[in-house]
Amino acid sequence: MAPGIARGRVCFLQPAFSSQAGSAQCLVSESERLTEALSWLIERLQRLAADVTVQLGAEAGEIFWAQQMILEDPALREALLDHVECKALPAEQAVAREFERCRRKLARSPWASLRERAADFGELERALLDRLRHRTPRLRCSDRANCTMGGCPLHHDHILVAEELTPALAVEADPQTVGFLVERSARNSHAAILARALNLPTVSGIKGLFDAVPLEAECVIDGGTGELIVHPCPATVHAYELLRASSTLCVQMTEPVPALQVMATIDRPINVREAVAAGADGIGLTRTEMVALAKGGLPGEVEQEAQYREIVEAMSGKPAYVRLWDLGCDKAPVAISLGLDTSLHGCRGARYLLRQPELLRTQARALARASQAHPIHVVYPMVSDPQQYTALRSLFQHAIADLPEARLYHGIMFEIPSACLQARELFDIIDFGCIGTNDLIQYLFAIDRADETADFERLFDSPVLWRLIAGLVRAAEAVGKPLSICGELAGEPRYTQRILDAGIKALSATPRRIAGVRRAAGGIAPSNLV
Ligand code: PEP
Ligand code: MG
Repeated sequence: MAPGIARGRVCFLQPAFSSQAGSAQCLVSESERLTEALSWLIERLQRLAADVTVQLGAEAGEIFWAQQMILEDPALREALLDHVECKALPAEQAVAREFERCRRKLARSPWASLRERAADFGELERALLDRLRHRTPRLRCSDRANCTMGGCPLHHDHILVAEELTPALAVEADPQTVGFLVERSARNSHAAILARALNLPTVSGIKGLFDAVPLEAECVIDGGTGELIVHPCPATVHAYELLRASSTLCVQMTEPVPALQVMATIDRPINVREAVAAGADGIGLTRTEMVALAKGGLPGEVEQEAQYREIVEAMSGKPAYVRLWDLGCDKAPVAISLGLDTSLHGCRGARYLLRQPELLRTQARALARASQAHPIHVVYPMVSDPQQYTALRSLFQHAIADLPEARLYHGIMFEIPSACLQARELFDIIDFGCIGTNDLIQYLFAIDRADETADFERLFDSPVLWRLIAGLVRAAEAVGKPLSICGELAGEPRYTQRILDAGIKALSATPRRIAGVRRAAGGIAPSNLV
């Protein structure tokens, strides 16, 4: 029902009781509770509509405007209030009773299009009941007892298992969601349309999924044929990877926009094909540690060289930013799975590489060799000051001293506040900078980027963050060196204009987000809503 092939680990979407009752807790009467839940949902739908319109176009945004109109219908509101005020029903029962009545009415309609709209009522009802009961849907796997809908800390690709694919789920699933496996979803439902527009392969119609598919099992789904393969053998994985690579369905292709260089963030060399299919202006970030995680060990020099070559050759001359291993500390699970020591708090990225110079040595040599094909931008992660960068840079140089001259640029991630405060000094010695908003927010505000209770995204609007970014832009401009921005914020189309206003001319986002970002930057992306 949404074609394409996806491979990932099974992650369950299940409702969970939230510890935070929110503002609704202090409301006393049932009508007040009901009114609060309705206002909250209308506001949420308005936000979704605006975001989706920017990302996928007006047609997709309409889905949420239409849902909003259902809730704003005075007749519905009157009926709901009548249940609580005249019949003395609790707010939850009023919602359940009234929405059930509406659904039945639609289900009896002779027109299929109206019958399918019953799903909208189902989704709105669930969202209202969740709000009234202080419940929030959570993803579940062992990476976190309850991981938030904000990103898997291990960057695992997820096949999300849910009872029903809803429009909100299709657009709000975390960026690691590569496909959906659901018990029900009509072919022409809004949710299915959105899944197709977002190129998220979806298989539906499997009953008892939560019992049938083990949590965290690796699986492959083929949305075109409706196939689900649990625990695929290596040969099957290989066959499907080839099929997937040859498919152009993974992402929406868009043309470059003049105002902004929109590059792709990739976690593995295979993703470079999605970047090409999306028409990316380059690779703005390669998380090499994820390559190691996927392999279950650190690749040797020859294997790494082949991987980096695959990336630069696919980009054929467009910029390719490859980051040195970002291991340790809150990326500890990655390091642990690779058998590395992670016991020291705060020992991550640059600091970790300084303690384990042999890891840097192999990677430096592989990068230098691969750069013979095309130049590479080497990105140093989690650098805190100029001395640390200089020490790493000389280790790097020493490691490649016997190789033919490499075509490398060297730059750092600005993701630790101390580095941002020394940006002028750093820009004197680096070739370029990349702002890593995920860690920058984490360390600037002392907030855990993987904490499901923390309101991480709210900080995207923080004036302090943007003041720091403005300082980085000034420091880069003073010496005329390139500065790009990556992290989740960079892939959010609603922040594209703000990024441009800040004077940033290059960003990196996952291939799937490139079209939305370009659209927000003034480009025309062809709609593929079918
Ligand atoms: C960041 O911190 O913003 C970033 C892009 O790096 P990562 O998410 O891999 O830590
Ligand atoms: Mg980071």
